[in-house]
Amino acid sequence: MDNTFPLAYLKGLGPAKAALLQKELGLSNFNDILTYYPYRYLDRTTWHKIGEIEPDMPFVQIKAKLVRKELFAGKGPRRLKAWVSDETGVLELVWFQAVSFIDKNLRLNENYIVFGKPGLFGDSLNMVHPELETNAEHEASLSAFMQPVYSSTERLKKVYLDSKGILNLCKQVLSFPTLQITETLPLYIREKFKLISKETAIRSIHFPKSQIDLRQAISRLKFEELFFIQLKMLRIKKNRILKSRGFVFPRVAAIFNDFYQNQLKFELTYAQKRVIKEIRHDCVSGHQMNRLLQGDVGSGKTIVALMSMLIALDNGFQACLMAPTEILARQHLNSITEAMGIDFKGIALLTGSVRHSTVTTILRELKEGELRILIGTHSLIEDRVVFQNLGIVIIDEQHRFGVEQRARLWRKNSLPPHMLVMTATPIPRTLAMTLYGDLDISVIDELPAGRKPIKTVHYFESHRLRLVGFIKEQIALGRQIYIVYPLIEESATLDYLNLLQGLEQLERSFAKPDYQISIVHGKMKVVNKELEMQRFVRGETQIMVATTVIEVGVNIPNASVMVIESAERFGLSTLHQLRGRVGRGGEQSYCILMSGNKLSAESKLRINTMVSTNDGFEIAETDLKLRGPGNIEGTQQSGVLDLKLADLVADQQILHAARTLVLAILEKDPALILEENRLLNLFFNSKNLEHISWEQIS
Ligand code: ADP
Ligand code: MG
Repeated sequence: MDNTFPLAYLKGLGPAKAALLQKELGLSNFNDILTYYPYRYLDRTTWHKIGEIEPDMPFVQIKAKLVRKELFAGKGPRRLKAWVSDETGVLELVWFQAVSFIDKNLRLNENYIVFGKPGLFGDSLNMVHPELETNAEHEASLSAFMQPVYSSTERLKKVYLDSKGILNLCKQVLSFPTLQITETLPLYIREKFKLISKETAIRSIHFPKSQIDLRQAISRLKFEELFFIQLKMLRIKKNRILKSRGFVFPRVAAIFNDFYQNQLKFELTYAQKRVIKEIRHDCVSGHQMNRLLQGDVGSGKTIVALMSMLIALDNGFQACLMAPTEILARQHLNSITEAMGIDFKGIALLTGSVRHSTVTTILRELKEGELRILIGTHSLIEDRVVFQNLGIVIIDEQHRFGVEQRARLWRKNSLPPHMLVMTATPIPRTLAMTLYGDLDISVIDELPAGRKPIKTVHYFESHRLRLVGFIKEQIALGRQIYIVYPLIEESATLDYLNLLQGLEQLERSFAKPDYQISIVHGKMKVVNKELEMQRFVRGETQIMVATTVIEVGVNIPNASVMVIESAERFGLSTLHQLRGRVGRGGEQSYCILMSGNKLSAESKLRINTMVSTNDGFEIAETDLKLRGPGNIEGTQQSGVLDLKLADLVADQQILHAARTLVLAILEKDPALILEENRLLNLFFNSKNLEHISWEQIS
């Protein structure tokens, strides 16, 4: 659809207004406005009698005769009143603006179609600023059936580009003589799924003649939206698999085997073994691995990451692991060093707080190949970090990194290294298919044996004494406790106050020297945070008071109670992440959600979901339903947010149908060269296609 005429061509839209439209809504050409869909419609297919009207009804439409009108210019605001009647009654109409103009145009005893929102003035029914059309006008107007409503902004409304103004632009575009709305879906697809043509769909979504028209238009456009996203991603995936060469790791040798036989302290779960097999398979395929590893908190992703790195080492390559925070990176270093045993040299940590002289040594050893595994934070992507021969990159909590940052790791060797990105945020299937459709996905869907499911309870403020008692009991049993306070940026100052007050209260209930409390929050220096963490890790403190900095990854098996203060203020995925900090040892663990007494329906649902299930995927589904894909972590850089009509929760069936179809098409015609797929091929060459480099979203 090459409708790139600037909107400034349209009547009533000079350069200034056109610029404003661009600035406020991003609409600059014909195509933009054609795809600026109404967000709702006023149904003008039903009629009411005056006698049926109630003040709380939405917009209604009546046929009535104008029986009287009167201009009030004296006391009070200048206003025009008119009265219309049908055989069931009389209705008062009122205007406060453009009064003289309307007065001049209203003719007594004329039959009008009146459209507006009923209201009450005092205790009498009226309608403020209704629209009046004669029968002739009504029939000529495109809005005779369903009137589209477009969202606009305050600044646009000031220059008459309100919903009505946009509607007019849209009308003009649709009747523009040279307008062409090109079909994008081949006929065989349209026939198979009974989809109307693109042109009809675009025309009807703006000006549907009936509810049925509208439904058909929406379903056609939704299908198209989901279909092309899938086509784009699956094609890229196919091309990547076909074309991108990758290092081959044929050997599993001394380092891996020694670790597996002599160091590994537990039996891998079935799921862990399966994933390691999938990774091995990728690493001998000759193509670059680009794999997402999903596994709930505590499912044991780290060991999978480590063993993948060991395969690289066995084949003469180096490996690196990047984590989003210093705490996590350090923890990975510690657990990997511990797992590998003291004999293993050649592993180092690189973060922002590593001393300059140490950095120099690390960089030298890395380049010379003495260092085999580098663990770190964002510091790893800096240009000065040069590997001798980097073979595999692991990214933990991948959604914390931007696309650009991840892509820079691709360029650290002659061929891009194998990539394994990990996430503990379970992603609902539909979202994963759209977000990560171009990646291979592995799932660890099993927790290590012997874990007891975490018991979750919801306490109100009135239960606080009971909470204190419970914590004391647990500490007496030798366990450690997390207490987490919310820290939301917008209300940071207040939140700190809460945190400090909470701490004071705690220090009264848990006084020294019997109890020791650690505290970690974002305003502390890294070294101090680290110190406090270490005290807790070593068991010198029994309680760790923290903000959500401990959310991801932190692993302290002896901590068995997670108390979340003001739990109603946290999102579901954060609650789930936080809960995942406990339940890592063999002991029964608990999560206690503290909340105020007044809860919104949504907070209640969130808390109840947490109490009723430990299953991360189930929680993620609920989260997606509650918040929509735009707020799910990881969606920000993806095309998901650009969906205009489709809804990943409501339209799962369409998504599945589209995906299945795309897979079949690419199987039969991977390069889209068959005549029947000509339109699909055009899509990839179309100028209007923004170029998202999906291949970098890994
Ligand atoms: P996550 O997937 O959240 O990153 P970790 O990798 O930190 O989880 O693992 C959580 C804990 O479980 C660690 O203490 C780890 O040593 C342990 N673990 C991992 N796999 C197993 C297993 N197969 N059997 C027993 N414990 C395991
Ligand atoms: Mg982890």
